[in-house]
Amino acid sequence: MTETVSIGIDLGGTTIKMAIVDQQGNIVDKWEIPTDTSNNGRNISQNIADSIKEKTENGGWKLKDIDGIGIGAPGFINMENGFIFHAVNLGWKNYPLKDDLERKTGLKVVVDNDANTAALGEMWKGAGKQASDLICITLGTGIGGGIISNGTILHGANGMAGEIGHITSIVESGAPCNCGKTGCLETIASATGISRIATEGLEENLSSMLYKKWIEKGRVTAEDVFTCAAEGDDWANEVVKTITHHLGLAIANMANVINPSRIVIGGGVSKAGDHLMAPLKKVFGKYALPRVHVGADFAIASLGNDAGVIGSARLLTLRNSN
Ligand SMILES: [Zn+2]
Repeated sequence: MTETVSIGIDLGGTTIKMAIVDQQGNIVDKWEIPTDTSNNGRNISQNIADSIKEKTENGGWKLKDIDGIGIGAPGFINMENGFIFHAVNLGWKNYPLKDDLERKTGLKVVVDNDANTAALGEMWKGAGKQASDLICITLGTGIGGGIISNGTILHGANGMAGEIGHITSIVESGAPCNCGKTGCLETIASATGISRIATEGLEENLSSMLYKKWIEKGRVTAEDVFTCAAEGDDWANEVVKTITHHLGLAIANMANVINPSRIVIGGGVSKAGDHLMAPLKKVFGKYALPRVHVGADFAIASLGNDAGVIGSARLLTLRNSN
């Protein structure tokens, strides 16, 4: 008997990444198509169905060889029935993704939040090393978070668990956040936040390397901050200290509640490597309970863009084992 495969999908605002994944989590084939957000995203599920049909037929897969489709989607989702309440990037409002895609493909569909599927992917095949208690944090334009507890994704009462980027009480009267509140972690430790903090202090730091960067190109990025910090720039180091303080404190507080064995940091900002991780671990050690501290290892996410498709495929095997 041929072993079945799963289809993992990472649904983004500009591209839809898809992969055929075997039962061990290895990618057999992967490809992507552009996300058609015209007409309030009404063509998206048909495009996905057509693309899967073409790929699987060309690859010689029969419908019975395919376990189903796991899909990580942005926005607010009901994980039980795969109903998307609101996904701004895609134009979806009250969209029955699971039902629609099942009808169009004839395959079983499981839907979850894209930050959760990224965490699941890293846990299964990446830096998470199969840890059954894990926190995964993606530091990109915003901050995404997924929590695995006892081997399963922590969803919470209505799917909102793991919104690490919106932990507040970080700073009094902080910067406005996309969520409508102010001072969320995302306004500080995302790539956008780091760039904002660095830029806001330039006037008082006219002799800094960061100011030179700003003169050269009219902006300073999170990457500039870490590069200049590594080269000994005082202001850049000050920024790194500020952001790792807030990030490390937030992670320590979460870890004190969840007691993870693995904390995986991904996204563009994680490319800073040890320049981010060393100060972050120090702050973490300061605020985490001693037993929580010794029980938790930090790691940089290792799957990059594949985390989403691998984790989405894992949704099916997880569901089958329950
Ligand atoms: Zn927020």
